[in-house]
Amino acid sequence: MKKTIKDISVAGKKVLVRVDFNVPLNDKQEVTNDKRIVAALPTINYLLEQKAAVILMSHLGRPKGKVVSAMSLKPAAKRLGELIKKDVVMAPDCIGPEVAKMSKDLKSGEVLLLENLRFHPQEEKNDDAFAKELASFGEVFIQDAFGTVHRVHASTAGMTKYIKDAAAGFLVEKELQFLGEALNNAKKPFLAILGGAKVSDKIKVIDNLLGKVDSLVIGGAMAYTFLKAQGIGTGKSLVEEDKLDLARELLKKAEAKKVKMLLPIDHIITDKIDFENKKAGDGAKISETPDAEVPAGFMGVDIGQMTLKRIAPVILSAKTIVWNGPAGVFEIPEFSKGTVEIAKLVAQATESGAVSVIGGGDSVSAVKKAGVDKKVTHVSTGGGASLEFLEGIELPGIAVLPEK
Ligand code: AMP
Repeated sequence: MKKTIKDISVAGKKVLVRVDFNVPLNDKQEVTNDKRIVAALPTINYLLEQKAAVILMSHLGRPKGKVVSAMSLKPAAKRLGELIKKDVVMAPDCIGPEVAKMSKDLKSGEVLLLENLRFHPQEEKNDDAFAKELASFGEVFIQDAFGTVHRVHASTAGMTKYIKDAAAGFLVEKELQFLGEALNNAKKPFLAILGGAKVSDKIKVIDNLLGKVDSLVIGGAMAYTFLKAQGIGTGKSLVEEDKLDLARELLKKAEAKKVKMLLPIDHIITDKIDFENKKAGDGAKISETPDAEVPAGFMGVDIGQMTLKRIAPVILSAKTIVWNGPAGVFEIPEFSKGTVEIAKLVAQATESGAVSVIGGGDSVSAVKKAGVDKKVTHVSTGGGASLEFLEGIELPGIAVLPEK
């Protein structure tokens, strides 16, 4: 078990906290969704109660090692100030003599937010001197940016070498607890639902899950590689031709492990799609197939009615559900039904006692779209991080934290 914030002494100390304030901004430099800031409040408020001097660090967007004023964290400082009803001092940079002075002068109960870490290329390169300088601003380090713990950056990995004590914050603790419980201590039947664009992104996840789950539902574009690997026609659906052998191996592994693999048995298909503008193509022919075959000239864009009927009882009888990735092109309303129905079924299963964990990214948008985001057990704040967690590898930003 990793140390968490309550295992170390923070009272009256200068505490450096890596948060994930990578929030969306509009043209007027206003935060349009403060979910990530809100997610860090338990840790920030606890530190303030403990009379710590709080120094927050984060990245925002992809400025690629240069100062990009549109990616300043100033709007996040403003929003945080409103939420904690306290002034948040904004630093002009994240390193340098001025920041050193500001952090030195920071008093108990005050909050300082350092400017975007990614304005310096050294952050993403995990540069040693940069990490050391960041660490020099505080006495204790708290990792609370679950969204970046799968990265080996200065603020997520390097700096822990140079700080006396470190621990996970409340958000990271909660994420590890829910994901860990679901994955390693799952009540059976354990069901995983995987979807999304590519098999190649999720090979390691499938491989790891096959050793743990009772059933695996595969939807999304990923399914077509598996169907084609079994000799089923896939028309012009997205298929990763170079992953057909691998798909066959995974199907064999599932059989050997007695995991019930549920691939789509029917589809919503279309002959045209406008991915760029997120709409069905002009004058597109849209229909539902009577079986698993996708006819030539068409692509599968969602799971069909029969597939939903087949997977519904599996979802409703599961006691643990892990879901990552949409079952179709859910950004386009005509092709979102499968994903939305899955979200509703997962919520229903949760109401009857199942533990449900939704991986970050698109599956989170899907549960929101279905209006059931409050009806599942846990919605992860980290897309990439939760996916790597499901691969069964230790996340680098967690690995560097000391054990209890
Ligand atoms: P991922 O980031 O891997 O979870 O993939 C999410 C993306 O997969 C979404 O943008 C979906 O539109 C896309 N997707 C899901 N199903 C399909 C499909 N059948 N064909 C093409 N794209 C799909």
